[in-house]
Amino acid sequence: MRLKEMDFSVLQQCMHCGMCLPTCPTYDTTKRERNSPRGRISLMRAIATDDLEMAEGFADEMSFCLGCLACESACPAGVDYAGLFEASRADIEEKGLNKGLGRKLVRFGTLEFLFMRPRLLRWAGRGMRLWQKLGAAKFLPARLRALERQAPEIGERFSNELIEPIEGEGKWKVAMLTGCVQDLAYAEINRDTVDVLVANGCEVHTPPVQPCCGSIHAHNGEEEMARANARRLLDLLPPDSFDVIISNAGGCGSHMRHFAKLLPNDGRAKEWDAKVRDIHEFLVEVKVRPPMAAPFEEKVRVTYHDSCHLAHGQKVVLPPRMVIDLMPGVTRVELKESDWCCGSAGVYSLTQPEQSRLLLERKAGHIRATGAKILLTANPGCHLQIQNAMPELNVLHPVTLLAKAYRNEC
Ligand code: SF4
Ligand code: SF4
Repeated sequence: MRLKEMDFSVLQQCMHCGMCLPTCPTYDTTKRERNSPRGRISLMRAIATDDLEMAEGFADEMSFCLGCLACESACPAGVDYAGLFEASRADIEEKGLNKGLGRKLVRFGTLEFLFMRPRLLRWAGRGMRLWQKLGAAKFLPARLRALERQAPEIGERFSNELIEPIEGEGKWKVAMLTGCVQDLAYAEINRDTVDVLVANGCEVHTPPVQPCCGSIHAHNGEEEMARANARRLLDLLPPDSFDVIISNAGGCGSHMRHFAKLLPNDGRAKEWDAKVRDIHEFLVEVKVRPPMAAPFEEKVRVTYHDSCHLAHGQKVVLPPRMVIDLMPGVTRVELKESDWCCGSAGVYSLTQPEQSRLLLERKAGHIRATGAKILLTANPGCHLQIQNAMPELNVLHPVTLLAKAYRNEC
């Protein structure tokens, strides 16, 4: 979808009320109208009506936007900012307005090459793991060393080495998405998710090799690649074969709920969208079994950071908190501005390092103020961003705590 192809009523929906402005992290930083959702929508509308030519200034503006969708949650008119954002970035890519070496590396090195080839991505992960073990980063120039520090620490094993293709039996037949970054860096979270699903009466299907969901492509304006990946997922996990499709990563789940928009002529996409569930949402729906044991021997104080795409993209806010609050020996302290972006936002920390750093420092200050030594979050980007900045903190997925608690029952 391009801005000029969009239903004009979507572009006109903004009534300029400004309710979204206080929720927008980029507007909060600069206090400039053009860096706000309202300002950006005005630019999009002017481009769609040919009152403004699409140029580098617009590309820079859309690169500065985090795509965090906090504005969508705040908007009383129901403006589809996610749709407008993706259409804008697709236009920008088509016109070749995204320049710079960093951007080229992101496009060809990751989006087009690695994130379209799951087997190759794992081989790259193995290479990276070896590189990290050897400590080879010390030979890099300072700027690249700083970039390398932002990369995830590759796990010892990937999801296919930890999870059988079919596990458990019970009332619900579920398909489990292993993700890309989640698979490379946090495969144990996928293992924990399967354990929790099995403990709650599910037959879990986890194909060992899965394509990327295409979220990173759509977010960066690569619509065709996003479409190709959506088709591959529909082929691999036909929605009529499952009761639900489970995601444990905020960004992936948010994107996977909109395959019908990407593939309007594929009859399977609507059914797929209706069956996608975030893991916490599903657990609450099926009345998750409360654990009889605590996840840790000692009592712990935890806090929870909302991933933007879980809270604003999927509107899943209460279920993760309900799951955390079920656990004996765990006290949850609410985090100030918990749904304020941490600055990770896909590749934002690479493309907009200064704004990303500001947001991360703000987040870290609020986390410290809770006194919690454990931070729970449900998106690999946030997990990585916060853990890298706060090595003293134990960053975990809520499902990991639940899996630990179930294991301690034995
Ligand atoms: S997506 Fe986030 S950064 Fe972009 S306009 Fe909306 S609130 Fe602001
Ligand atoms: S809250 Fe919605 S309607 Fe109001 S200015 Fe923001 S986008 Fe427009």
